Amino acid sequence: MLNIVLFGPPGAGKGTQSEKLINKYGLVHLSTGDIFRANIKGGTELGTLAKSYIDKGQLVPDEVTIGMLASEVNKNPNAKGFIFDGFPRTHAQAEALDALLSSINSTITMMLALEVEEDELRKRLLLRGKDSGRADDQNPEVIQNRINVYNNETTPVKHFYTKQSKYKGINGIGEIDTIFTNLCEAIEKK
Ligand code: AMP
Repeated sequence: MLNIVLFGPPGAGKGTQSEKLINKYGLVHLSTGDIFRANIKGGTELGTLAKSYIDKGQLVPDEVTIGMLASEVNKNPNAKGFIFDGFPRTHAQAEALDALLSSINSTITMMLALEVEEDELRKRLLLRGKDSGRADDQNPEVIQNRINVYNNETTPVKHFYTKQSKYKGINGIGEIDTIFTNLCEAIEKK
């Protein structure tokens, strides 16, 4: 299996690059943010719970997020591999993902991290907020909170994969196609 964690701060381009990677490599795309938003739209109990955190730019609690992700992985027993987009975001989630994949005799192949500086992220998110309709992209305070949460709670996940020699940073600024080519080169080298 080819299992990729696509990592990076909010606004780094994970969603855009995931779409291109799943088309090229035939992987299943699991974006925890997208799954939460679909639940909010569908008015589920999970959606109501997730919304109360997402609206503030906070992380949805680990046990909820991990349970949801595990059920999505288990729904795809014949997958050639997965792109995990926006997950794991905490050390506990990274540990849980390792355990989950090991239960299906698999493992994370690599973490690809899109590197983009904070000023550029703030600009991109506000711009995205204009057409995405995402409330969490329209409020500068919520955006800053998400960047802070990323710096404080999510950065340790990078060390988790560095220790396993699975971390690869990719410059996330530039043309979408150039970034995509660099991601593919990193995958093919592995
Ligand atoms: P995203 O679409 O990845 O930017 O995620 C939007 C929001 O969903 C985040 O700001 C969090 O509130 C929530 N979220 C997405 N993925 C996770 C995760 N792995 N753990 C906790 N909360 C998450």
